[in-house]
Amino acid sequence: MKSKDVKILWGRSGNRCAICKTPLTQEATSPTASFTLGEQAHIVGDKENAARGKSLLTSEERDSYHNLILLCPNHHTEIDKNEVGWPVDKLHQVKSVHELWVTETLSETIDHVRLAQQTAISAVVDTAVELCDLENWQSWTSHALSPSQRWREDMPSALFNFRKRVNATIWPPEFDELSRAAISLSVLLHCASDEFMKHSDSLGNYYVADRFYRRPANNTDYDADLVEFEAWQDRCYDLVRQATKAANWFADVVRRDVNPMFFAAKGRFFIEEGPFEDLSVRVSIPQYTDAEKTALPASLKLYA
Ligand SMILES: [Zn+2]
Ligand SMILES: [Zn+2]
Repeated sequence: MKSKDVKILWGRSGNRCAICKTPLTQEATSPTASFTLGEQAHIVGDKENAARGKSLLTSEERDSYHNLILLCPNHHTEIDKNEVGWPVDKLHQVKSVHELWVTETLSETIDHVRLAQQTAISAVVDTAVELCDLENWQSWTSHALSPSQRWREDMPSALFNFRKRVNATIWPPEFDELSRAAISLSVLLHCASDEFMKHSDSLGNYYVADRFYRRPANNTDYDADLVEFEAWQDRCYDLVRQATKAANWFADVVRRDVNPMFFAAKGRFFIEEGPFEDLSVRVSIPQYTDAEKTALPASLKLYA
């Protein structure tokens, strides 16, 4: 008997007796005594004088997968003793029905795994809603994007926790794009808050920009410090804009792969920049192009 045939037989039988479905083991010295030793029984007997042995099959064909059926010792004894009750056709049928049952049971098992994975992924999505305050995106980012920048004091640690959570997630292969969007979003938000914290002061329940170029009152490096301050501000703004692109991408993929209703009513995440010197406010929906998405998160432009 070839090991390939034996392997196929055991695999397709789900390691169970085709008649009573008792779990079987291949090892005579199995550590689990509750398992019964399986027997690779011949449908057409292995020899002319064996049970159901009258056949034109060659001895190689008699030992092939197609002529074998996996049984417990009781049922092997039964089919060989009761040749009339267990003819060749009936055994082939029993084997086919059993293998179909195994396929269905097995695919059901896979569905359970899928369900568990989807549950885990849904939990990460819920975490994003909470820690990134997606519900109030336009509101909190408008503070971060205003000339008098301001971040709610709970945001930096929430965004750091979101990044840790995304890092710890094991993403099944079918959630590849979602994982890349989530990683991009978490890295950008964490970097945005980190960058802001470099020059911020605590004020009430907020962190506000520290205008360091104004210190001391007669700062001789005022002009250079102001340039530095404005460059830092631009980096802060840019990271929030990039994060909004990532949030829109993330929401699109969540709607496609996890939950079609995810922020479906709100649609896209807007940002509001300004007010500028002419008091105007610019509202936009930052979005990545498809080419940009393909390259993320490897292509993330950070200021570390
Ligand atoms: Zn059995
Ligand atoms: Zn036999």
